[in-house]
Amino acid sequence: MDRRRFLLTLAAGLAVAATGRGAVTGTRAGESPPVAAPAAPSPAAAVEPAPGLVPVPPPTGVVTALPGEGNGLALTIDDGTNSEVVAAFAQLAVDADVRLTFFPNGRYRSWEENAAVLRPLAESGQIAFGNHTWSHPDLTTLGDAEVAEEIGRNKEFLRTTLGVETPFFRPPFGARDERTDRIAADLGHPTIAMWNGTLGDSRVLTAAELMGYAREWFAPQTIVVGHANHRTVTTVYGELLDLIRERGLRTVTLADAWAAPAARFRGAVATARVPR
Ligand SMILES: [Zn+2]
Repeated sequence: MDRRRFLLTLAAGLAVAATGRGAVTGTRAGESPPVAAPAAPSPAAAVEPAPGLVPVPPPTGVVTALPGEGNGLALTIDDGTNSEVVAAFAQLAVDADVRLTFFPNGRYRSWEENAAVLRPLAESGQIAFGNHTWSHPDLTTLGDAEVAEEIGRNKEFLRTTLGVETPFFRPPFGARDERTDRIAADLGHPTIAMWNGTLGDSRVLTAAELMGYAREWFAPQTIVVGHANHRTVTTVYGELLDLIRERGLRTVTLADAWAAPAARFRGAVATARVPR
């Protein structure tokens, strides 16, 4: 079984575990996937772990950093108001072997416009996705039905446009409470993925300002939030890569962070490392 199927299986299992009902639409182990859903795991995929990997369930609840110790750096890229910037991030993943996690809003056409490039990257595990709502509202100002509509519509968009299911949810503006977390979990996103570092680029920055943020926040086991909204970040990729190298960091997706080589876990038999 390939890595992607493994992660999907993991996500499906988690969703089942989180709800305790075993009835997550389209991802239940053993359920035949709909024809239009190439991302859904096959029944066989549900019972066979990927070589060298053990499933480490993403937590139910809020995370702000990567788990455990290590030199991981999770670059998480939100929104996608600018299609050229989304394309540039995809190219960065291809050219520089950077692993990225995207939190798209489906209302922006950038994702559909770049889907042909993004889908195979997601398939290989080079990039991962989380849900960031359809239209980026402050969920704490909306009623339950509206919150569910925002999350559910984007979940469906991620599935049909990008071929992914994900346990991860990030509330727009980081605005969340127990109610919004619960609705996200009920819709199959048990992990509320916050962050503990930032590129500061939800507004337009100069290159120097952006690199200042990077130097401040790029550190081991950090989840850094950035945005595919303004071009500045695309002009400093080389400097960002230099900084990652200088600090001995290794980019990981959020999916990587909770699915790790078996050798890392106590009692596990050491097996081949995951190809990177
Ligand atoms: Zn956002």
